[in-house]
Amino acid sequence: MSPPRPGTLHVVATPIGHRDDIGARAIETLRRVKVIAAEDTRHTRPLLQHLGIDTPLVALHDHNERTAVDGLVERMRGGDDIALVSDAGTPLISDPGFRFVRAARAAGLKVSPVPGPSAVVAALSVAGLPSDRFVFEGFLAAKSGARRARLSELAGETRTMIFYESSHRILESLQDMRDVFGPGREAVVARELTKMFETVLDGPLADLVDRVAADPNQQRGEFVVMVAGREASEDERLAEGLRVFAILKDELPPAKAAKLAAAITGAPRKALYGA
Ligand code: SAM
Repeated sequence: MSPPRPGTLHVVATPIGHRDDIGARAIETLRRVKVIAAEDTRHTRPLLQHLGIDTPLVALHDHNERTAVDGLVERMRGGDDIALVSDAGTPLISDPGFRFVRAARAAGLKVSPVPGPSAVVAALSVAGLPSDRFVFEGFLAAKSGARRARLSELAGETRTMIFYESSHRILESLQDMRDVFGPGREAVVARELTKMFETVLDGPLADLVDRVAADPNQQRGEFVVMVAGREASEDERLAEGLRVFAILKDELPPAKAAKLAAAITGAPRKALYGA
């Protein structure tokens, strides 16, 4: 008898708040697989009940992932398709699953996403901050010293920065961001996205600290904090413009190269052409 076709690991996103934010393919996958590996089975069971799905669940969280993964990979080798879910949003995004995905890939097994909600993308999509480039920082440290140290390392970051935060620390984290990035730096606080008390506040960090401090309701729930990157200085823009101009001028007439380099980098065109 030929060996069974190996199973696939489906990494399935689930809602971050609104129960209906689950796609048809996610539902079909959760119904069809042999077993669902869930961060917290008590959390996932009500979702499955709501969807009328009775696929068996096994726990896969930070504390048992190392030991549980071997057995799950073995099941896949034996032909079982498995779905991986976390409590909310996309598994592996500040959630468990990394070791399982890594082990499945290392074993040459197929790992396939069933994409859906993730708070980082949902928040960025409504922030109105530059989104062509961004960095996801996940959770900052719980202790202020370590938190400020990390923020200081990010002080020169020019891309939009995205942080996850909990109700316990939202105010202190915003205060630290104000102190490290400066009171005028633009930021957006997205709270309870897709839920009843969804709010999206924007403004300079000093204003956001004041508004969140003044209203205890604004300190409740789940948060994504997004901070605009540092604006490049005139000198930095010129240096970047010259770098891009040097590349383009080998392929284009100098006037055209200067025009394009200025448009790409924001450097003054005359200065580039002069160079
Ligand atoms: N895997 C999830 C994802 O894809 O977004 C993230 C899990 S992480 C343990 C939970 C954190 O995500 C929360 O503390 C909060 O920072 C953010 N988050 C999750 N749901 C959210 C929501 N509805 N509104 C705002 N932030 C949310």
